Amino acid sequence: MERLELNGTRISPGVGVGSVFVALTHTKRRIPMRRIDAHDAEPSWKILTDARHAALKKLEGIQAATAKELGLQEAAIYGAQAAVLLDPEAAKDLRRWVMDELMAPESAIQALLDKFGKLFDSLEGGDMKSWAADLRDPWNSVLEELSEGDVEAARSGGPGSLVLVAEELTPTLVVSYPREKIAAIICSRGGRFSHGAVIARSYGIPTVTGLDAVDERARSGQACVVHGDSGVVVLNATAEEQESALTLSAERAHVRGVLASAAKEAGHTSDGTEVKIQVNIESPRDLDLFDPEIVNGVGLFRTEFAYMERPSFPSVDEQKEIYGAVLDRFPGKPVTFRTLDIGGDKSLRYFSTPEEANPALGWRGLRLSLKWQDLFLMQIQALRDCRAHGGVHIMLPMVTTVEEIRQAKDLLLTISGTEDLGVRFGVMIEVPAAAMALPDIVKEVDFVSVGTNDFTQYLFAVDRDNPWVADLYQPYHPANLRVLRYIARVCQKAGVPATVCGEMAGQRKGAFFLAGVGFQGLSMSPLFVPEIKALLRQVDIESLRETARQAARASTVKDALSILELSTAQAWQKVVESVGSHKT
Ligand code: PEP
Ligand code: MG
Repeated sequence: MERLELNGTRISPGVGVGSVFVALTHTKRRIPMRRIDAHDAEPSWKILTDARHAALKKLEGIQAATAKELGLQEAAIYGAQAAVLLDPEAAKDLRRWVMDELMAPESAIQALLDKFGKLFDSLEGGDMKSWAADLRDPWNSVLEELSEGDVEAARSGGPGSLVLVAEELTPTLVVSYPREKIAAIICSRGGRFSHGAVIARSYGIPTVTGLDAVDERARSGQACVVHGDSGVVVLNATAEEQESALTLSAERAHVRGVLASAAKEAGHTSDGTEVKIQVNIESPRDLDLFDPEIVNGVGLFRTEFAYMERPSFPSVDEQKEIYGAVLDRFPGKPVTFRTLDIGGDKSLRYFSTPEEANPALGWRGLRLSLKWQDLFLMQIQALRDCRAHGGVHIMLPMVTTVEEIRQAKDLLLTISGTEDLGVRFGVMIEVPAAAMALPDIVKEVDFVSVGTNDFTQYLFAVDRDNPWVADLYQPYHPANLRVLRYIARVCQKAGVPATVCGEMAGQRKGAFFLAGVGFQGLSMSPLFVPEIKALLRQVDIESLRETARQAARASTVKDALSILELSTAQAWQKVVESVGSHKT
């Protein structure tokens, strides 16, 4: 196979070397046509047949359980679904597509679904449409089985050995595969600030997107080198390329290692001004990736990921276990639990929300919690029950108005009654309207945290997942910098602690700007903590204030960036000298 060099969008830095593993992810979109090599035809047909049998077995199990619970008549529907999977015509088509036309198993099923679609589209009437759904549904469960088999196959790879290839970088993709096996991720689509990107960065997985149809062009098993810093990806990389990439990766690990050993020291600037450094996590499992001693608690626990990894809603007791496990690792330190933030590009497969034309402007975060109050109350109850651990902070996402905050506080009262809830209560500022309402909001809360990922998307009216408008997504534009400075000032004046937990906080220039305008805390992926702490130790607070002032005064993003980058480059040079390495 020929060497192929591709250029894409840099999502997460670092160098990854491994063999391609084409992931079969099921988004709501069509499965792309993927061809297989002739020698893979027989094993692929077996994979498809096994998945069909597994789906059949599950349907038969559901049929038996339903018959017991509701009676034979109700159970008959599952019998009919099983019959769909036994259709000999469908089996003949699938066999031909895989064995003769060399379609991947999932692509063959998509072809079958398309065939049904065409057949029924040519007929009229509502009944026809629902029959079409009845025919498609069982085959969708075969796809689900294939997907599970796919994850199992990934588990058998060695540590850090796989380059995960998929059509789109979604949060589900990143959390579905065993993290320790993944050397890098490459995708056809996925914005720099999408949730998938945020998670890939926080796991420290080198990631590149915007690689045209890479999921169709790459073949499992190909040697691949991924340069997350430059966006260059090489398929069928030569042995020398693989070796030099591995050396580069080891050098980076060396710098990281040296910085990590100094990371227990509290975050501060060279003159001793404290900057609290916290972490963003998605699961108690993340706690195995770093030493909790290096941070001042958790600034953002994205609780929705604990929901996403499961087949159904967690009970209050299950939630208590998850939250308690995190609190136990941070005795005496704050742990900020963000209440369920689903909607937009984060969904739960067991909870369907209506199709929306503009999901980012729709039903997400707190808006959903105020509607589905039971879900919200169960979460609050679990957190209230964890208060004996100490340090529980509850934070609401996607707040727009002060009225919403009051409504949420009324709901908290239904849990606490006349007692003190025993937790600290705060909100995320992610919507520009909330920033402008901040003088009223600070009277209602114990703390504020700015989610700059969403804040930027709403300020600039650019979908954070949409590559077509990605150029306009500009966290370092003076327009954004000025609002951030305003938020820091309002909070300072009111004496309410303000932190930033969006991606800017873990970026060199972001950390400098945010500390310079007076945010007291920065919450970031654990991976960035040693580096940001080391950088802050190189500068005094007065010079950070001056740099921030100049950046906010600039009129273009280019000018603001060059001011910030000059300052971080000088500081980084000092860090590198102190580490005794010339590579960064
Ligand atoms: C943010 O919007 O900046 C944030 C931290 O939340 P998320 O990225 O999970 O939307
Ligand atoms: Mg957000």
